[in-house]
Amino acid sequence: MQEIMEMWQKVLDKMQNYVSTLTFDLWIKKLEPLEIKNDDTLMLAAHSNSAKNTILAKHSSQLNECIHEIFGEYMKYEILDNAETEQYLLENNQSPIEEKVDAPKERAQFNEKYTFNNFVVGKSNQFCYAAAHAVAEHPGTKFNPLLIYSGVGLGKTHLMHAIGNYLTEFSPNLKVRYVTCEKFMNEYIESLGVTENSKEKAVFQFREKYRNIDVLMIDDIQFIANKNATKEEFFHTFNELYQNGKQIIITSDRAPSEIDIEDRIKSRLSCGLIQDMQIPEFETKMAILKKKAQLERYYIDDEVLNFIAEKPYTNIREMEGALSKVSFYATLMGKTTATMEDAYQAFKEDQFEKQERITPENIIKEVCNYFNISEYEITGKKKSKDIVEPRMIAIYLIDNTLNLPLVTIGKIFGGRDHTTIMHSREKITEQIKRDNKMAAIINDIKAKLSIR
Ligand code: ADP
Ligand code: MG
Repeated sequence: MQEIMEMWQKVLDKMQNYVSTLTFDLWIKKLEPLEIKNDDTLMLAAHSNSAKNTILAKHSSQLNECIHEIFGEYMKYEILDNAETEQYLLENNQSPIEEKVDAPKERAQFNEKYTFNNFVVGKSNQFCYAAAHAVAEHPGTKFNPLLIYSGVGLGKTHLMHAIGNYLTEFSPNLKVRYVTCEKFMNEYIESLGVTENSKEKAVFQFREKYRNIDVLMIDDIQFIANKNATKEEFFHTFNELYQNGKQIIITSDRAPSEIDIEDRIKSRLSCGLIQDMQIPEFETKMAILKKKAQLERYYIDDEVLNFIAEKPYTNIREMEGALSKVSFYATLMGKTTATMEDAYQAFKEDQFEKQERITPENIIKEVCNYFNISEYEITGKKKSKDIVEPRMIAIYLIDNTLNLPLVTIGKIFGGRDHTTIMHSREKITEQIKRDNKMAAIINDIKAKLSIR
């Protein structure tokens, strides 16, 4: 049986090249080989009747081909649904095969998809990319410490993992440690929390772990704010590594001056800082979508990619979310390629979901908080610039997030005319395209509201 399992795994590996990741995960991966009947028929159990039917209807020839290749030309196969499997096992007096017991592999630190190759370079991120690449090639020399800085969902973690993957491949002897700020904090707190007599040992071990290395990566350092003990520990870790010429890489969605850390670290980070990453322009967005579709084996019409790239997404994670949503929708509908029709349907549901969680009141409140103005002012008549712009932003966000008629939005803003609402929407949409600062503001407020 072990042998069959191993061969089946090879069939799966092959199938993965023929079908989309989603199809693979939803249908193919869940097949379980039962046995080889009469020396020439591979018996496969599907988890449901629809799984059986879908595979037979859509993927049978590919499956056939892969099985031939691995088991031999003579091998046939039969798929049983869950009821049939039960019956089959009863009749053949077998118990279902046990779960495969692979020894758990040590989990790699880095996401293998987050490589330099898979990172699309454009105007918005070329400096950060170049710096990250230089650090990967010559750690501890050029940019040390390296700060990768951008708003949320714009590629910081991706670049950090890319450095990690690169080092793993080309400098396998270096000791590289990657942690999120949260993990760093939790491990430190844990080391403090152990009983008195072993406490010193635990703290010592923690320090060994973080100081006796060549490259330290801390993701999302901004979360260290107000964690005083961790801040201090980080300060010492930083200094020790820095003094010994070890590479430190940090990501942050705040500018160095706004991160709550020691001034000395702040100024060192600012020295290393080249430029932050911004929201990419249309062409780069399009290239990212194409890359992503290729990586995930989504089959999607170019028209759909174009449609998604044109939407005023303010971060890439959000944009990728839209892509996988459309692809998922098409797969569920049993299609092999996603079309505009699927895109419309997929986004229609999106709108609905948002409406339940987010209200115009929430949005207005968040915008007021952001600009430090009152709700009375934002919905009122004042025409000074410091009020007008937040007002337009709030209008834009309400229109963009909720499916409300313009007249209704006008009413919320003190009975304004619907053309005024339309004007605000267009103005901000335009600005997002031209002005990275506006895009970043919208991005920040959306993140606060958890609008994806
Ligand atoms: P951050 O850490 O800044 O919040 P991530 O690194 O998690 O953002 O990026 C969010 C998503 O966007 C990831 O799936 C990442 O692969 C993708 N992404 C961001 N920038 C690029 C790029 N330039 N090319 C390809 N994919 C990108
Ligand atoms: Mg990140």
